[in-house]
Amino acid sequence: MSLVDLFGRVHTNLRISVTDRCNIRCFYCMPETNVQFMDRSELLTFEEITRFVRVAVPLGLRKIRLTGGEPLVRRNLDQLVAQIAGIEGIEDIGLTTNGLLLAEQAHALYAAGLRRLNVSLDALDPQKFEQITRRRGYEQVREGLKVAQQVGFSPIKINSVAIRGLSEDQLIPFGHFARETGIEVRFIEFMPLDADGGWRRDQVLSAREIVETLSRGIQPLLPVPNADPHAPATEYRFADGVGCIGVIASVTQPFCRQCDRFRITADGKLRNCLFSHEETDVRALLRNGGEDAQIAQAIRDSILAKGEGHEISSERFVQPNRPMYSIGG
Ligand code: SAM
Ligand code: SF4
Repeated sequence: MSLVDLFGRVHTNLRISVTDRCNIRCFYCMPETNVQFMDRSELLTFEEITRFVRVAVPLGLRKIRLTGGEPLVRRNLDQLVAQIAGIEGIEDIGLTTNGLLLAEQAHALYAAGLRRLNVSLDALDPQKFEQITRRRGYEQVREGLKVAQQVGFSPIKINSVAIRGLSEDQLIPFGHFARETGIEVRFIEFMPLDADGGWRRDQVLSAREIVETLSRGIQPLLPVPNADPHAPATEYRFADGVGCIGVIASVTQPFCRQCDRFRITADGKLRNCLFSHEETDVRALLRNGGEDAQIAQAIRDSILAKGEGHEISSERFVQPNRPMYSIGG
């Protein structure tokens, strides 16, 4: 059985947000102060999350990514990783983290079965890091990356949000970083999912500009034939074969047609798209005696209700009322 929507897209990939809390305040995601966090009792327990995954596997779920908020602020996350890794049918588990707590948790996460890591880092200098995240912590993230490499995580990728007026001077340093460390750096176009509603189209530094800047400043970037047609990033390698760069052109070249993802928020709401305005309350089913068949039906219905695309570039676009940290990026 598979989760096919009205446009023929097959959904195999679930993003699980484990918390909306975070230890920094990236301006493109969270408000700087007075964040209204979910009450702990609202969060799905690890048992509720794993039950949901077990129900979704027979429907075709194969890949999981844990995210948030900052997933590493959820206590004992390694236990959730181990529980999910033990579910037959799950082929792949990844984690997206800001890396601040990675040095202290890397060993436990690896032991629990996690291998794929995306570490978000938007700047390679401490001042710019602080300007974007409104907190200190650059050195901690670098340390986290170092420990993760030593522990053996593979692949490790950097996620870097590209913002006009802020990121231009980071592109070439990140290009050299990718060449020196062997870590793929993926630039993500700035999307309208910030808590302050301040996104403007002219702040989007486009994937095309990024590739051109790196090609001019270091060496030509050549496209890598994409093994996974569902991967949101278009991948490039420098002409001499050293260093891999990815660009995620969510705004200028949306990949909605290939989308294979669905999401569950930390408070148990099922979402069929980052930009969706509707969600399904799966927590109510999980907590109030819902049967597995009802949960499975809720997942199928949510996928069937998925729209064709996010329409950021259309006049009709309305930013969802949950910002990124509350949805789970
Ligand atoms: N806290 C973790 C982290 O930062 O990696 C996981 C959650 S975060 C919401 C997931 C990813 O979404 C990060 O790579 C972050 O940079 C990205 N992100 C957040 N807000 C964004 C926005 N408005 N546009 C594009 N990417 C965004
Ligand atoms: Fe926190 Fe990640 Fe949002 Fe930054 S992008 S504020 S690290 S949840």
